[in-house]
Amino acid sequence: MLEPEVEARPWDEQLALDDDAYRAQLAYLLDRSAFYRRKLAAAGIDESAAAGGLAEIGRLPLTEKQELRETVSPDDPVGAHLCAAPEEIVRIYSTSGTTGAPSYVPLTVGDLSNWIAGSARSYAASGVTSGQRIVSTYNAGPFVAGAALASFDRIGLCHIPVGTGNTERLVRAVELLRPEAAVLTPSYAAHLVEWAAERGISLAGSSVERVLVAGEPGGGEPVFRATLEEGWDARVTEAMGIGDIGVSLWGECEEQDGMHLGARDFVHAELLDAESGSARPLGDGGSGELVLTHLRHRAAPLLRFRTRDHVEVRTAPCPCGRTSPRIRCVGRTDDMLIVRGVNVFPTAVREVVAAFAPRVSGRIVVAPEQPGVMQDPPLPVRVELADGALPDAELAEAIRARLREVLVVTTRVELARWGRLERSEYKSTLLDRKGR
Ligand SMILES: [Zn+2]
Repeated sequence: MLEPEVEARPWDEQLALDDDAYRAQLAYLLDRSAFYRRKLAAAGIDESAAAGGLAEIGRLPLTEKQELRETVSPDDPVGAHLCAAPEEIVRIYSTSGTTGAPSYVPLTVGDLSNWIAGSARSYAASGVTSGQRIVSTYNAGPFVAGAALASFDRIGLCHIPVGTGNTERLVRAVELLRPEAAVLTPSYAAHLVEWAAERGISLAGSSVERVLVAGEPGGGEPVFRATLEEGWDARVTEAMGIGDIGVSLWGECEEQDGMHLGARDFVHAELLDAESGSARPLGDGGSGELVLTHLRHRAAPLLRFRTRDHVEVRTAPCPCGRTSPRIRCVGRTDDMLIVRGVNVFPTAVREVVAAFAPRVSGRIVVAPEQPGVMQDPPLPVRVELADGALPDAELAEAIRARLREVLVVTTRVELARWGRLERSEYKSTLLDRKGR
């Protein structure tokens, strides 16, 4: 562990510390944040709310990304939730804008330091240690992922940034510089295995022992993960951050049973029923939308921010000794479809289909026919075949039957020849609303 006194701290002690931090954070917001002063007053919440501490955080209204965006103007490019004076801001990142126009994320020197500390714990959980080499493939540039790269320095790794868009250069760097670890999106990790195999290069024979995936859900799906582990002959663990809250907040340990909260001390996590908006207990086996609250943030702290990430929680003791809860991201609430009352995540569809390897490539696209979340069955699913495999009605039927059995959803499976579904050096799109 990078910081055992923090990471192995009993969870009830953590909550007590967080309780104090939360009260101070709430007082800070009421003092400095025009956005929260307005929002909390409208909800009938005043200074006395801080007295209830974390136990009563559920009384506070949730914060939606869209609300923050609506306060942005040319005079106020960050938004009304900005609390710090211009001279206190040392960095301004952009969110990548996967779900709309990019927004700005300012940080004070303390915020940046906390981000890096949390990210370093998350990445170190994977087992990478000081003195090892790690190759990174993020064009982090303007994005919050840039702060994650700084966490590699904090761990003491030798960082080899290669960037996105040049697979040949990346594979060459791996061959010549012999890094022990690689950090990339799960989509790109899968693409590299294929790319290398087509050229007679074996990534399994490379120096890479650890593949750290982040940037999108999927790295934790058992079948997909097994494919990556086999292709790289490496242990695959994942990390996850939320642009507006922090970078690589969560990181998986070598037990591979979900991501620990590396950003403990800095962030408080809750679970929500995404449809009703009511709180759910953050207990073992729980699931729901992840809601996060800053505890020690200064530049633009957020309260009860809806992340739109649907997660499953584990709180049973982890053999690694880290005491924080662990999560697995099942998918984005934004990608969720409801087919005859049943919630369907494209990532879950991919997981079921992947079990048909080696007959399929593992790539799928869910192509809903109706706009919006509600869909009438059958739900169209395009499934890419393995290299050289030909469309086969029996296989399509077997996949359809399996999806029905596991996910309780009626689909129409369209098989596509190998190479027909898009490859990505960054994130995959599992939902295709184009052309419909
Ligand atoms: Zn663990």
